Amino acid sequence: MKPTRFVIFTDMDGTLLDHDSYSHADADPLLQQLQRVDIPVIPNTSKTFAEVVELRQELHLTTPFIVENGAAIHFPKDFLPHKPTGSLWQDNHWVKQLTTRKQYWLTILEQMKASYAGQFTHFSAMTIDDICDSTGLSPAQAELAAKRSFGEPVLWLGSEQQKQRFVDQLHSKGAKTLQGGRFLHVGGDCDKGTALRWTMNEIASQRPEFTWQSIALGDGHNDVAMLQAADVAVRIRSRHHAPPDVPDHPLVITSSEIGPTGWAETLNEFLKPVLEDTQYG
Ligand SMILES: [Mg+2]
Repeated sequence: MKPTRFVIFTDMDGTLLDHDSYSHADADPLLQQLQRVDIPVIPNTSKTFAEVVELRQELHLTTPFIVENGAAIHFPKDFLPHKPTGSLWQDNHWVKQLTTRKQYWLTILEQMKASYAGQFTHFSAMTIDDICDSTGLSPAQAELAAKRSFGEPVLWLGSEQQKQRFVDQLHSKGAKTLQGGRFLHVGGDCDKGTALRWTMNEIASQRPEFTWQSIALGDGHNDVAMLQAADVAVRIRSRHHAPPDVPDHPLVITSSEIGPTGWAETLNEFLKPVLEDTQYG
């Protein structure tokens, strides 16, 4: 029988990072341990490439990462024995793109401006000051958040009725929309679950000497597809909302602690036999 190897996929905000303070201190000792035994921790987040690059440095991660809600997977050069299937060399990584780039949606939004004059604006048409005002981000954070490659956040300024027509029209042009706090996210068809599956298939086909098991951790609704796709689904408790529903999954664990404390708690417990096994890694 082939030995088992684990891969961890994790949401960032509210999961590995505290929702309010962005602290990851409670997860740091375990992150170091996982690195020692060679269990990759793969960020799977709605954040942009520019945002994740900063976070990886802070977390001392050298693993692959998934950006913009499953839009693309970035592999460091030596993570796999060969170039990942269909990937391109970009920004010092092998990048596998799973959806349409932003420019496509910008062209469509541009065309729609004639019918919806003054009724919406969007990140690419806003100044950094505008983005700060409408998101509460600092100028430096807004700068990074604005560097989106795949989707485009739209700020609706018109009536609800007109908005529904606008959204229907976007859908008829192949866009997927997701209403966030203030912004309507417009992008292609991708999610964190498809990206997890793609990554696991690629790892398994390039390294067939192991049986690969995925563990996913998330606290929010946009993590459900990722949790569903993983062999082990870990729901991280939040102080702001109930844990996401993951129906019909054979192995769901819910943390008792919140955010990074729950992250470390559940993984320490689940991986205990592995972390104590001197043969692993
Ligand atoms: Mg989250």
